[in-house]
Amino acid sequence: METEVQAIDRSLLDCSAEEVAVKWLQATDLPKEVYLHLAYYIPKIYSRGPNPAPQREDMLAQHILLGPMEWYLCGEDPAFGFPKLEQANKPSHLCGRVFKVGEPTYSCRDCAVDPTCVLCMECFLGSIHREHRYRMTTSGGGGFCDCGDTEAWKEGPYCQKHELSSAETDPLMHLSEDMIARAYNIFAIMFQYAVDILTWEKENELPPGLETLNTSRQTKPLKVQVMHSSIVAHQSFGLKLLTWLGNIIGYSDGLRRILCQVGLQEGPDGENSSLVDKLMLSDSKLWKGARSVYHQLFMSSLLMDLKYKKLFAIRFARNYERLQSDYVKDDHDREFSIADLSVQIFTVPSLARMLITEENLMTTIIKTFMDHLRHRDIQGRFQFERYTALQAFKFRRVQSLILDLKYVLITKPTDWSNDLRQKFLEGFDAFLELLKCMQGMDPITRQVGQHIEMEPEWEAAFTLQMKLTHVISMMQDWCALDEKVLIEAYKKCLTVLMQCHSGFTDGEQPIVLSICGHSVETIRYCVSQEKVSIHLPVSRLLAGLHVLLSKSEVAYKFPELLPLSELSPPLLIEHPLRCLVLCAQVHAGMWRRNGFSLVNQIYYYHNVKCRREMFDKDIIMLQTGLSMMDPNHFLMIMLSRFDLYQIFSTPDYGKRFNTENTNKVLLYLVIIFNGEKNRFSPGMGQVNATDEIKREIIHQLSIRPMAHSELVKALPENENKETGMESVIEAVACFKKPGLTGRGLYELKPECTKDFNLYFYHFSRAEQSKAEEAQRKLKRQNREDTALPPPVLPPLSPLFASLINILQSDVMLCIMGTILQWAVEHNGYAWSESMLQRVLHLIGMALQEEKQHLENLNEENVVTFTFTQKISKPGEAPSNSPSILAMLETLQNAPHLEVHKDMIRWILKTFNAIKKLRENSSTSPVPETEGNIIEEGSRDKDKAERKRKAEIARLRREKIMAQMSEMQRHFIDENKELFQQTLEELATSTSRALDNSPTVSDTKLTALGPKQTRVTEQRQVVTCILCQEEQEVKVDSRAMVLAAFVQRSTVLSKNRNKVIQDPEKYDPLFMHPELSCGTHTGSCGHIMHAHCWQRYFDAVQAKEQRRQQRLRVHTSYDVENGEFLCPLCECLSNTVIPLLPPPRGLFNRLDFSDQPNLAQWMRTISQQIKALYILREEENNSCGSNSEKMDELQLPKGFRPDFQPKNLYSESIKEMLTTFGTAIYKVGLKVHPNEEDLRVPIMCWGSCAYTIQTIEQILTDENKPLFGNLPCRQDDCLTSLTRFAAAHWTVSSLSAVQGHFCRLLASLVPNEKNENLPCILDIDMFHLLVSLVLSFPAIYCQDFSGVSLGTGDLHIFHLVTMAHIVQILLTSSTEENGMDQENPNSEEEAAALTLYKFLCQRTGSALKEMSSGWHLWRSIKAGIMPFLRCSALFFHYLNGVPVPSEIQVTGASQFEHLCSYLSLPNNLICLFQENSKIMNTLVESWCSNNEVNRYLEGKRQAISYARESNKLIDLPDDYSCLINQASNFLCPKSGGDKSRAPTLCLVCGTMLCSQSYCCQTELEGEDVGACTAHTYACGSGVGIFLRVRECQVLFLAGKTKGCFYAPPYLDDYGETDQGLRRGNPLHLCKERFKKIQKLWQQHSITEEIGHAQEANQTLVGIDWQHL
Ligand SMILES: [Zn+2]
Ligand SMILES: [Zn+2]
Ligand SMILES: [Zn+2]
Ligand SMILES: [Zn+2]
Ligand SMILES: [Zn+2]
Ligand SMILES: [Zn+2]
Ligand SMILES: [Zn+2]
Repeated sequence: METEVQAIDRSLLDCSAEEVAVKWLQATDLPKEVYLHLAYYIPKIYSRGPNPAPQREDMLAQHILLGPMEWYLCGEDPAFGFPKLEQANKPSHLCGRVFKVGEPTYSCRDCAVDPTCVLCMECFLGSIHREHRYRMTTSGGGGFCDCGDTEAWKEGPYCQKHELSSAETDPLMHLSEDMIARAYNIFAIMFQYAVDILTWEKENELPPGLETLNTSRQTKPLKVQVMHSSIVAHQSFGLKLLTWLGNIIGYSDGLRRILCQVGLQEGPDGENSSLVDKLMLSDSKLWKGARSVYHQLFMSSLLMDLKYKKLFAIRFARNYERLQSDYVKDDHDREFSIADLSVQIFTVPSLARMLITEENLMTTIIKTFMDHLRHRDIQGRFQFERYTALQAFKFRRVQSLILDLKYVLITKPTDWSNDLRQKFLEGFDAFLELLKCMQGMDPITRQVGQHIEMEPEWEAAFTLQMKLTHVISMMQDWCALDEKVLIEAYKKCLTVLMQCHSGFTDGEQPIVLSICGHSVETIRYCVSQEKVSIHLPVSRLLAGLHVLLSKSEVAYKFPELLPLSELSPPLLIEHPLRCLVLCAQVHAGMWRRNGFSLVNQIYYYHNVKCRREMFDKDIIMLQTGLSMMDPNHFLMIMLSRFDLYQIFSTPDYGKRFNTENTNKVLLYLVIIFNGEKNRFSPGMGQVNATDEIKREIIHQLSIRPMAHSELVKALPENENKETGMESVIEAVACFKKPGLTGRGLYELKPECTKDFNLYFYHFSRAEQSKAEEAQRKLKRQNREDTALPPPVLPPLSPLFASLINILQSDVMLCIMGTILQWAVEHNGYAWSESMLQRVLHLIGMALQEEKQHLENLNEENVVTFTFTQKISKPGEAPSNSPSILAMLETLQNAPHLEVHKDMIRWILKTFNAIKKLRENSSTSPVPETEGNIIEEGSRDKDKAERKRKAEIARLRREKIMAQMSEMQRHFIDENKELFQQTLEELATSTSRALDNSPTVSDTKLTALGPKQTRVTEQRQVVTCILCQEEQEVKVDSRAMVLAAFVQRSTVLSKNRNKVIQDPEKYDPLFMHPELSCGTHTGSCGHIMHAHCWQRYFDAVQAKEQRRQQRLRVHTSYDVENGEFLCPLCECLSNTVIPLLPPPRGLFNRLDFSDQPNLAQWMRTISQQIKALYILREEENNSCGSNSEKMDELQLPKGFRPDFQPKNLYSESIKEMLTTFGTAIYKVGLKVHPNEEDLRVPIMCWGSCAYTIQTIEQILTDENKPLFGNLPCRQDDCLTSLTRFAAAHWTVSSLSAVQGHFCRLLASLVPNEKNENLPCILDIDMFHLLVSLVLSFPAIYCQDFSGVSLGTGDLHIFHLVTMAHIVQILLTSSTEENGMDQENPNSEEEAAALTLYKFLCQRTGSALKEMSSGWHLWRSIKAGIMPFLRCSALFFHYLNGVPVPSEIQVTGASQFEHLCSYLSLPNNLICLFQENSKIMNTLVESWCSNNEVNRYLEGKRQAISYARESNKLIDLPDDYSCLINQASNFLCPKSGGDKSRAPTLCLVCGTMLCSQSYCCQTELEGEDVGACTAHTYACGSGVGIFLRVRECQVLFLAGKTKGCFYAPPYLDDYGETDQGLRRGNPLHLCKERFKKIQKLWQQHSITEEIGHAQEANQTLVGIDWQHL
């Protein structure tokens, strides 16, 4: 079989591309020749056997099929031909790079014509837009870079690279005639072939010319449609061919043009017969792979050639209806449909314009859309109610057509041709037809009696409305640009509205309303009884156009052309009014039985996404109607629709009625007549567009300071996704930068508060009351009165000028008067304070209006606005009723209206001001009597008033006090931890002061050795957080414990690839200097009784078990693993550390006379060790035959190996020693707990050493002094951890600890019993020191020779220090640079040089020559510093000697002070000299080690000192660099696929393919995602990642714990963008990144996760292990 394949291959390989090409060049019938070739070879190459080998196929296809074509095309070897083509090519300006999934794309908010215009990263970086306001997104794939497209950019269309390209010329100029002919021939044949074969539909027949003779024909009809294998083969090649064509045209723009020409050439069958047409039209029949291949080819050919792009656009537009219909029926996503190319075509302004005028594209799109929504009710309106699943599916798909319409309209025309006008209006007609089908859709009837059975469908209608919102706005924008178009559109719209309303009054009874002598005829209609719809797009469009009439001044210029006389104001306002009534009634709770669908509709009606073309336009329509009719009539109709007519027309009626409705009607009155919309929308008030947006922002910020993103969300976006906010925000707000957390906020400028309008029309009820509260508070803070009067408004434009008259209309005055009357007689009526407040606001508005009116008065003007006069007159209708002014005066002193007093006062003040103004201009006198009454009245009541106020003030104070204390209690509850910490800090700061107070003389403090400073131990009394009892920490008392969390750590690791392979057999005695896996202990510092903790833990455990059974939910902690939360601060813990008195005092006999020197001590120790070994061997061979050895044994003086020391600790302390020791062992080695295991004490020492090292590292990194800066919880933790580690040997097997000591010491002082110990290059000296010092008492306790324990400590310390110096010198990589010492050799330098020379000698001169002692001494000092600092911490916590004040600050002579504290000579080399005899031997033995030699010969690596501190990886400043990096990242497992969730490990910089099945692996028998798997190797279970696509930091710990954390990237507004939704440029915030790094270095990631999960329970439910 194998050989057969090879044989075929050989015969195929013999085919020569050149020869075939030559044959073709001479052929008379080229197509036939080529087809013969294809027919013969393709089935052979693509004969898919059982084992497809795509690479082999590709290779053969290139050689046999494509090769000849390339030869033919070039007329020579393509290896020469193509580069020539490329060189001769003058590439076009266009970049055209097709985006990969996840690739970053950039759009310029200043210059892009629309948001679909994007740049690739390379072009962006070389463009001017870098400096502009840009937006960054990640591409979903498809689409291409618009660099070089002059129509896509208002400015800077070229990047630096594409600017250089030549201007547009005929690309064919650069090709020879021959080449053009050949290219044309071969392209025509091959493109035709590809199209034919891809669109071939017959199953067992090949296209003519491709039949092969030797294939065995399967002639019998197949039941199962099995495609002929040859067809499959040809189709595979067809795809290959299209890709090839795409590549070939990349060489030359000329070739590209030829291909376009071939593709668009009409075939013999006329219309739609070009190859491009054929492909497009069979799009939905092709499989996905084929589609993307030819779409790509279209993009790189037709869309890249300016001439053919236009021709292609025409083909596309002509086929539009068919393509869209195919797409709607198709079941693949839009990105796989040719219809998706519309965005590439329609967004080009010139093409869009051309297609509208020449192909009537607007109409086509709208009609196509309508065709797909055939389901209508009897009135011809859309009906979504009874949609089947299929219809709903189609509806979703057909929505993309609206997007197309948006693309077409997005660029507005600058000049109009008659054609464009005509075609636009034709499209407008079609659009009106569409809106007509929406006018009144989904009507609702109030449900009475019982609830609706099924929530009616409402979403479809709103989806349609929402999608159309921008289109509707853009239609208006277009109309605004041309007067003729506007007039025509206005007429058309009115006509359609009339059609909609025909039959509107059918069957309705006319009724007559009358108030205050005014009467009006209307119909009887009740919103709560009849059908009402929230969808009125036609009315709303008309309202929009009406405003434009004013704005463009068409209304004044050509009134004769407008059908203004045909307008019937009552008809115009009818439906919008019903809609507002509906909202009011829903808010009043009258429609409860209609369920949630209605509530949702009302919500969206007001929502920022819809309101522009819904609520806003209804208000405008009411204003429009009002401006054209008698305000009294308007008001009566309005009252009638709100069911309030009776109340105001018959004065005594108002005893029982709907307060809410009155409130609402008043609110709308405020809004409609003088509020916002009419002044602040351009065209109605005399303002420009920015005033409107300023207004919105001012009112948003009146509620509270807001972040940029919050503001953006609260403001409407236009079709370009812009709110226009940036241009005005500076004027109204100040920006406050964020701190380490939180985000930047905008605060309202103080001078803008005067523009605050309490009844701003976009406020929801909740927003309104929040804003009111905030503004009143602000006023109180500024010691102003709390009146919130209406702001002064800009004047109205002439078309709407008559609006203000409503404020002084009789009916309005009647309403005001009635409500004030209720307030005066406040008992019998169902009035409310908010009602009064609104009336006061209305009065205030009228006064402002009048004041302005008077101030702007010029000679000719007549005062028409006389509100003040009218409110001074007593009422007429109910005889003898007082004037409005008089009632206000009464109310000013009403005790029940305290809150409104300031406002009433403001009104009266303004009233008087206006009176003065009038007097000055002496236009008309105001009755003076009223004013006098006011002043008299106020004097009378003055006294009583003051008393009453004092009483109110007292009550208020009391209430506030009560509230305060309640709040405080709350605060403490919520911030328990914070409080505790503050308290503790207070406590420790006092205890620390004691610590440093000179209980011992400060002259020279020594931490260890015979000269150790003596400290008198202070009693330590602590309080249990659980039972609150105090207890002293003593050897024999009940144990006190600290909550602690033990975890494995790789934070200090210098080799992340190293993991403990077999924990059961792992020997942790020696820590490698790579520190690849340590055990870290941390604590929150909270103290409990051991038994209190035990009880607490048992309770937690029991509770958890019950909870898990019942609810099956997890918690943030894993009880089965011994985890619990600190009962006080809820910090994650998994064990407890016992608190101990200083442990050394117990065994230390402080007799310092006549202590042995290092050599003597070592001799004694060696003898003791030897004795121990002999004894142990003897024990093992218990038969006692080794008598001669026993003879040899000469016990050193005072050494009593049979002595068993007594354990002085209380039982409970001993128990806790074991508990904590076992916990460290269990976590550190990841094994089952076993308190008997001999490695338990080693793990305890290791954790002590490792924890000290991490803390030293953090302090160094932060450039902080060693002491005096640790938070007290860390200080407490280190004290108890060190004491614990020093005491632990008392609960372990004595002989085991002795054995550990012997082996540890043997690594420095070799003996024959211990071999295979690591060489000194492979030992972390600090770990060695801690283990030696802490295991030494196990031997020392049997030594009664009178040597002090401190002496041993000192000798061990000196010995390890010397070993470390040698280690440093051996691994030092300092090069001797030119910088030589300034001073002549100091003593230290000379000594260092001597020592170095000795080392050189002992290592056989493998060490490189050094002549400068200065360099050596410098590297020793730098290298040993961390060790000395760690040792200082260690001995401080071990022996409790206070720290000299010099080490508590950073200073120049740190080194000397450390040496002094540690009982070391300043010249460390002296240690060698003092003990030269024994040291020479030892150094020699260290140097002669085989591993050391291998290192010096360069055969292995070793750590050099000082070890650099581990940091998180460097992140780029610009976030898009990361996105780009991630978009180039391929899933490592699934050969070349893009990763969906590329995730960056911040610890080591590895990019991972997260959250995906492809990269799941098995870990401890469970499937886990790439991140979890990575944490096990890289972070010992803890991981910090950046999810690049989401811009989110991910913390993981173990398999079940995780949380998301704010990324260290911020935009210019100080906000993060989790999920990359906003797309603002993001830059690295170094401080925030440092904070994350610190969390990591402090081992607080797990704790952080715990807190996050406690705060947000949903985090617990996430399957973190799958990330
Ligand atoms: Zn580009
Ligand atoms: Zn470019
Ligand atoms: Zn720009
Ligand atoms: Zn207790
Ligand atoms: Zn705690
Ligand atoms: Zn990593
Ligand atoms: Zn993967």
